[in-house]
Amino acid sequence: MKGAYEFSYEDNMMDMFSLKGKTAIVTGANTGLGQGICVAYAKMGANIVAVARRSCDETKALCEDAGAKFLEIRADLSSTEPINMIISEAIKTFGQVDILVNNAGIIKRNDAIDVTEEDWDSVIDVNQKVVFFLSQAFAKACINNKNKGKIINIASMLSYQGGIRVPAYCASKSAIIGLTRALCNEWASKGINVNGIAPGYMATNNTTQIREDQSRNDAILERIPQGRWGTPEDLQGAAVFLASNASDYVNGFTIAVDGGWLAR
Ligand code: NAP
Repeated sequence: MKGAYEFSYEDNMMDMFSLKGKTAIVTGANTGLGQGICVAYAKMGANIVAVARRSCDETKALCEDAGAKFLEIRADLSSTEPINMIISEAIKTFGQVDILVNNAGIIKRNDAIDVTEEDWDSVIDVNQKVVFFLSQAFAKACINNKNKGKIINIASMLSYQGGIRVPAYCASKSAIIGLTRALCNEWASKGINVNGIAPGYMATNNTTQIREDQSRNDAILERIPQGRWGTPEDLQGAAVFLASNASDYVNGFTIAVDGGWLAR
């Protein structure tokens, strides 16, 4: 009889990291970190469901070159309205959903004293509210279909620190770490891993404004132990790890990929 603690080692360690036949939903897939994650998953054998407001043609070409099947879903994640459609289209095309990466996010920079309610709500809706309800719909689909699930939430250095002139972003990304823990506590027993990745300072559209400000750019680089901005490629290893069987006993935790920023 097989006990709860019996196990066998993989013959080939690479198999632990394979995503062959898995279906991954990645939000904000048209550019930046989301595009990098799609390409990594495609190279590891997953079917890609790319969710974005704008065309994912570039991501599609990169994923199809890697041999992946690719479904693009145009959706505005500033409200919960498209959530059921996203899950049902993914299941209609690929049969089930296995991986969800909550990557879409926005940042609005303003002095805290001047932030409007509209700006506050827009950041919280995309970065926090929709992340919860999309995760809920994904978890329901996994539980109903009795398949394992992996949820990966994209957090930030501002999940740990206050930042400057981005109070709603800081609040939403701090909430993401709490949400990651809270959902783990409820869904781990149902075969769903909920983890996060906290990217450091990465060269994408999200950081164009501060990279173009010479003094901010210099101050950031000076503080990063590795002395450079991160790239979408830098995030790929952690994203594959958390989506694969290699992380089956990792749950409720957020991994920093930050060139050492948090160590300072
Ligand atoms: P990015 O290039 O600005 O990408 C953000 C993505 O989110 C884009 O695909 C964007 O789509 C999408 N998005 C925003 N609002 C959306 C909406 N309402 N509906 C659908 N999609 C929406 O920035 P990034 O750096 O790759 O950011 C990816 C994630 O990493 C974000 O959650 C960000 O907060 C986080 N992050 C980034 C850094 C960094 O240094 N870059 C650091 C820590 C955390 P559009 O192109 O249509 O706007």
